Amino acid sequence: APALRARQLRVSVQGTPILHGIDADLPAARWTSVVGPNGAGKSTLLKALAGLLRQARVEGSVELLGQPLQDLPARERARRLAWLGQNEAAADELPAYDIAMLGRLPHRAWMAPPSDADHAAVQAALRTTQAWQWRARPLAQLSGGERQRVLLARALAVQAPVMLMDEPLANLDPPHQTDWLRTVRGLVGQGGTVVSVLHEISIALQADDLLVMAGGRVLHHGACGDAATHAALEQVFEQRIQVRQI
Ligand code: ADP
Ligand code: MG
Ligand code: MG
Repeated sequence: APALRARQLRVSVQGTPILHGIDADLPAARWTSVVGPNGAGKSTLLKALAGLLRQARVEGSVELLGQPLQDLPARERARRLAWLGQNEAAADELPAYDIAMLGRLPHRAWMAPPSDADHAAVQAALRTTQAWQWRARPLAQLSGGERQRVLLARALAVQAPVMLMDEPLANLDPPHQTDWLRTVRGLVGQGGTVVSVLHEISIALQADDLLVMAGGRVLHHGACGDAATHAALEQVFEQRIQVRQI
């Protein structure tokens, strides 16, 4: 089974259709980039795949690791799928360590203190994103990029088999973008599935597969190296696409 499967996924908000019946299979152990112009519906698709749409009418189905999303208990869903949103809100008065520890909540019994495994996961995640040095600092005292690395650590700390990230590189400088790429490749190399919305086409093209969206529809879904994928990109962005390895 694919890691995520969408069938005839339709989303509308207050009567306005935003996604027009999306069919997509996102394969396991691969990294898929979702690209498309502003307003294409990328964030809405990611939220729908994560079951995070609240004020919207959602039709169609989503399966996560072979099971309908709505059949999964909330805690099981949260263990299977880690989420990093676009401009994610967080309790900015809390220290970075506590923020990252929130990623371990799906694993903990009600009111149980963090286990050694939880502390180990948080430490590993904060080290991976090079945010360990701020573990005692309130999020509000960090720069945009530093804050983003703490939120990325929170998502990594879940250690979920599937990870959805909407604009994860927001505010990250080039060295930390490269770190992020290495982290994603490591996750996928260990059998993880990563789906990310990315604005920077040259970075999006580092993925295994590309899902090209426009106007609430999927225009193309294929391997990044395929000529048809490049053609779809050039069509949707109306420009020549240069591939730059980083
Ligand atoms: P993208 O992430 O590709 O830029 P979004 O998924 O955020 O696009 O939005 C797709 C379209 O749906 C946009 O035209 C946006 O204005 C609209 N939209 C998204 N969320 C809402 C909402 N809550 N209410 C009304 N319109 C929305
Ligand atoms: Mg946008
Ligand atoms: Mg978006």
